[in-house]
Amino acid sequence: MKLDTVKLVIDLKSLSRGINRGVFTIPLEKVEWNIEDVEPFDREGILELQVDYRDDAILCSGGFDAHFRTPCARCLEPTTFSITEEIYREYAWSPDPASDEQREVISQSGKLSIFAAVQEAVLLSIPGKLLCSPDCAGIYYN
Ligand SMILES: [Zn+2]
Repeated sequence: MKLDTVKLVIDLKSLSRGINRGVFTIPLEKVEWNIEDVEPFDREGILELQVDYRDDAILCSGGFDAHFRTPCARCLEPTTFSITEEIYREYAWSPDPASDEQREVISQSGKLSIFAAVQEAVLLSIPGKLLCSPDCAGIYYN
């Protein structure tokens, strides 16, 4: 399986029918994450992908071992968090008007972007109230 590790795009020609597995090193600082207040902490992350290439769809799942940072909820110091959410997304070869499932349609270009699926795992991993330390006193007392 070939993956553009900066754009997070799979080359469909590199897939075989059925289950494809791959482990990729992602240069986190080169990826345009476009997530407000979040930036990579590590230089690299490890993306483990399992791609099920079927006649009707491509199912992409995996895990992302990476650290990012976002401001502490109290003192705004950059604070690290890891990716805890699994990656999962289904892509269909053609739109299915009879189905309620929201599947992204695979483009004719021979490329499949999984960027949104990976970005979503990062978004969902951002802690609701991240503190630099449990007893952070906050911005006014530093
Ligand atoms: Zn703090």
